Amino acid sequence: MNAQTALSAAIPFAVPASRWDEAHAATLSPAQLLLYRSNLLGSDLTVTNFGGGNTSAKLTETDPLTGEAVEVLWVKGSGGDIGSMKLDGFATLYQAKLLGLEAHYAGPDDDDKMVGFLPHCTFNLNGRAASIDTPLHSLLPFAHVDHVHPDAIIALAASSGGEDATKAIWGGTIGWLPWKRPGYTLGVMLRDYVRANPGVKGVMLAGHGIICWADTAKACYEHTISLIADAARYLNAAQGSRPAFGGEVVAPNPDRAAIAADLMPRLRGFMTGARRKLGHFSDDAEALEFVGSKDFQRLAALGTSCPDHFLRTKIAPLTLDPARLADDAYLAQQIADYRALYAAYYERCKRPNSPTMRDPNPVVVLVPGVGRITFATDKTTARLAGEFYGNAINVMRGAEAIGAYIALDEQEAFDIEYWLLEEAKLQRMPAPKPMVGKIALVTGGAGGIGAASAARLLKDGACVLLADRDAAAVEDVRAGFAKQFGKDVVRAAVCDVTDEAQIQAAFDICAREFGGLDILVANAGIASSAAIEDTTLDLWNRNYDVLARGYFLTARAAWPLLKRMKEQGGTSVVFIGSKNGVAAATNASAYASAKAAANHLARCLALEGAPAGIRVNTVNPDAVIRGSRIWDGDWRKERAGAHGIDPGSELEEHYRQRSMLKRDVLPEDIAEAVYFLAGEMSAKSTGNMINVDAGNAQAFTR
Ligand SMILES: [Zn+2]
Repeated sequence: MNAQTALSAAIPFAVPASRWDEAHAATLSPAQLLLYRSNLLGSDLTVTNFGGGNTSAKLTETDPLTGEAVEVLWVKGSGGDIGSMKLDGFATLYQAKLLGLEAHYAGPDDDDKMVGFLPHCTFNLNGRAASIDTPLHSLLPFAHVDHVHPDAIIALAASSGGEDATKAIWGGTIGWLPWKRPGYTLGVMLRDYVRANPGVKGVMLAGHGIICWADTAKACYEHTISLIADAARYLNAAQGSRPAFGGEVVAPNPDRAAIAADLMPRLRGFMTGARRKLGHFSDDAEALEFVGSKDFQRLAALGTSCPDHFLRTKIAPLTLDPARLADDAYLAQQIADYRALYAAYYERCKRPNSPTMRDPNPVVVLVPGVGRITFATDKTTARLAGEFYGNAINVMRGAEAIGAYIALDEQEAFDIEYWLLEEAKLQRMPAPKPMVGKIALVTGGAGGIGAASAARLLKDGACVLLADRDAAAVEDVRAGFAKQFGKDVVRAAVCDVTDEAQIQAAFDICAREFGGLDILVANAGIASSAAIEDTTLDLWNRNYDVLARGYFLTARAAWPLLKRMKEQGGTSVVFIGSKNGVAAATNASAYASAKAAANHLARCLALEGAPAGIRVNTVNPDAVIRGSRIWDGDWRKERAGAHGIDPGSELEEHYRQRSMLKRDVLPEDIAEAVYFLAGEMSAKSTGNMINVDAGNAQAFTR
């Protein structure tokens, strides 16, 4: 790497094309056409970012009370995403009542008050809340209106050259309004602008996006697409073959994935606060081009422009010096400095009625040569914050190609971030599930107890990495959980717990995919049955390799990650032991003694881990047959043989009758004990064992 700038051309903007299917559209009702158009726009990420924008149609409906035909505004409701929304995502409001609201409006100070009137205009008892953008749609006299925030459009809207570019691209057909926070006042400004400029077909909203319209759903959709395509082509021509952001000064580091895996748990450890953070790493081309560029520091410090971007990413990112990443003191200081800067911003901008300061930790962390890391209190929010910063990078690239990038004014940004209406929305959110913010790694994650434990943790909000030596099986389980719990919260790694390198790789994946580790469930196991004289050295070693050495290796690999979370309430290791780790067994000395070694290892680690806030406890199951991969094989036949019964039908009954409570022990029963020991309910327990065996006097600890 040297100061010479590389000369590769800037990444171009995608040019969208219409995806309208007339045959499909012909089958749809007017409201369904609005939904179709919205989904088409929102599912094309070159058109709009996640959730971004809103669409509307003014349709004729029958009033349920009077039976009369009335004009109803269908407009995307508050929250949600136009790409994936359904018909129930639209608010429906009497257009005549919406227009009548202007009698209550005296000026910009009334914006918040006007939001309170919107529910009074609801048509047909629709419970979907109307968004603050509703006046933009109701006050314009057009049947179909789209408002979107595509990168290519915001690049114009956030550039010193944007207004001239707008004239150059569209002549006078697309207007330009200066920055104004979304709300009723912006709607009035827009309506007045259109009255004063008859014939305009859309208006650029500076620092924000675009709003445009047409007479039919299809024409509106195609109009929106063509405006974005025009902007993208214009920016691509302006970028030409020049490199973006002044050219590359730091090349992508080929070891960046490993650097991220090392860095993320350390950053996460320093980001103390009310809730733990989940991390998300990206080294996509846009991120690397930006963080490695000459203009990186100057532009990053300016912060993002579009309110959508800025609400997700905070006022500005934290940037790190790639030469100092190994230095913990440096990282801690950088985060402390960021928090102090954020607090100073809050103090500078707060108003008498502002809500109290929110979490001051950085959301976006940028490292030249490495990429972009984002942190949030759940994985999906962390991923989306990263994607929004990716949008912001595109905006800066385009804006700089036609002029100078203009960020949102600090006070305007603050007023949006700490808007009382936004605060009310946050206060209405349900309390997070108990495991939200926690990251778990489960070995043997494709088997009965492993998968059940993972499911229990996922159900209450944890993120889980499933580690298993069976690649196909663990991918199956991952895919099932992704469907059930969401794709963001579960990952899989192929890992044989006897292989040191594979174990390290699995923990590295966990660190890079989620940001660190809070919970280790050491569960991968085998079992064997043989009389002592028939126990070969191989058989003995196999048991000790998996059950003693494997537990040692996984715990040792987890340790440096777990230690990082001491200041945030500590971490938990759960060993899956066995009744046979406590009670002697005939014809299973290799298995039972290896389990006993693991049980004692847990106690030793409990002692050693306590000063670092690491708790270590053991769950001792017995005879968990259903879903077990151990019981699929020879172990079933061997144990049936040892008890002199049929391995097919009699085994479950045998174990049930052998238990004191006469009950089956299921993987889900073990998972409940794992969940208890992993979570805050057992925060003051370490070095313990819980037997989950339907009662077995031999295994009573004494
Ligand atoms: Zn908007």
